[in-house]
Amino acid sequence: MDFKLTEDQQLFENSVAAFARKELAEGALARGKVSQFPHDLARKMSAAGLLGITLPEADGGSGGTLMDAVIAIEQVALVCPRSADIIQEGNFGAIRVLAHFSTPDQKKRYLQPVLRGDEVIAVAMTEPDAGSATTDLQTSATPDGQGFRINGQKVFPNPHADIYLVYVRYGPGVGGIGSVMLRRNAPGFSIGKPGKFMSGNEWAPIFFDNVYVPPEDVLLPAGGFKKQIQGFNAERIGNAARSLAYGRYCFNVARDYAKTRKQFGRFLCEFQGIQWKFADMLMKIDAAQWLLYRAASNADKGFPAPDETTVAKLMCNQAGFDVANEAMQIMGGMGYTQETLVEYCLKRCRGWMIAGGSIEMLKNRLAEIIFERRFSQRPPRTTAV
Ligand SMILES: Cc1cc2nc3c(=O)[nH]c(=O)nc-3n(C[C@H](O)[C@H](O)[C@H](O)COP(=O)(O)OP(=O)(O)OC[C@H]3O[C@@H](n4cnc5c(N)ncnc54)[C@H](O)[C@@H]3O)c2cc1C
Repeated sequence: MDFKLTEDQQLFENSVAAFARKELAEGALARGKVSQFPHDLARKMSAAGLLGITLPEADGGSGGTLMDAVIAIEQVALVCPRSADIIQEGNFGAIRVLAHFSTPDQKKRYLQPVLRGDEVIAVAMTEPDAGSATTDLQTSATPDGQGFRINGQKVFPNPHADIYLVYVRYGPGVGGIGSVMLRRNAPGFSIGKPGKFMSGNEWAPIFFDNVYVPPEDVLLPAGGFKKQIQGFNAERIGNAARSLAYGRYCFNVARDYAKTRKQFGRFLCEFQGIQWKFADMLMKIDAAQWLLYRAASNADKGFPAPDETTVAKLMCNQAGFDVANEAMQIMGGMGYTQETLVEYCLKRCRGWMIAGGSIEMLKNRLAEIIFERRFSQRPPRTTAV
């Protein structure tokens, strides 16, 4: 066991940090207020090899590990929190499921534009009546010739994506679930009125009205649900890494503030009440950091293990939120303004406690791991009398 980054990892960390300082530092505050995806930066990151870090070189990736991707998202977030979304989309999210399970033709049409930074991919999984209970999803895929007709509705995905990885139901039960690839301009595909999350990011309902999916756009047929969730563990690592990095970003901003802001003729950092807050924040950051690195480094080039991912996401989500919240308190009125990105980071961290597996659902999952048995969340079946 070695708690240090390897020499290669340190070199990579330094190079991403240098890239971030050069390309992302300027404009970081303004970027936190823009909902649209920053394509110009995505192309720069693509050129710098920061998209598809974990994917094989033959697929247009860099052949790196999940740890490399975590290092990249951390270093980018520490300079420009908003730009970490590009690393997330290009390394951890739907792209991992797509890259892992797609055909060579699908890779060419869907994966390559995302890796070039030209297009954005989003996952369309949640439905109005299927949130935490994902397997209750109703969006149907009905056979039509060689392909399928899609009917149904999703909520909460990014309304600005070009490509959607859509969870669909080919038949009854968990075994009937799989996924298809859809472009936003497909006939019968429509995006409803966008709304805003607390963070300012937009979401919208999307509707499928008899959308035709040719056979070559089926990603996973019936029986694909478990594979999708396996891939979703990579998304959770990105979610965890961003939460923690946002917490660390706020910690750094608050530390600089406490070193320069004076009250009662003394610097804030000289008050013991403030010092103890920083000590508590650092303990949380450090503890979460090692759980995140454990899950990422054990995954190497594959998907991370569900138990290690669950613990890491729970800890990072909580630590990121708590630290950002405390940083705001330390900065007083200034922390509560939009003059820094502390309030932005706090709001984003809050969302990740719900998205990608809510805190409660992940704790349910941990309980199953602890007791080595499944606890159905559904009401007990009543027997007829
Ligand atoms: C910032 C953000 C981004 C998102 N992005 C996307 C996206 O790109 N694509 C997409 O498809 N979806 C997205 N979502 C949706 C997200 O996946 C869902 O919000 C999430 O799965 C929870 O579902 P729900 O909102 O319907 O809450 P519900 O399932 O209605 O749950 C409500 C509350 O009850 C708790 N709860 C539910 N069941 C249990 C239980 N059995 N035990 C204990 N507590 C329980 C939940 O944890 C939650 O606190 C996003 C959400 C957010 C906040």
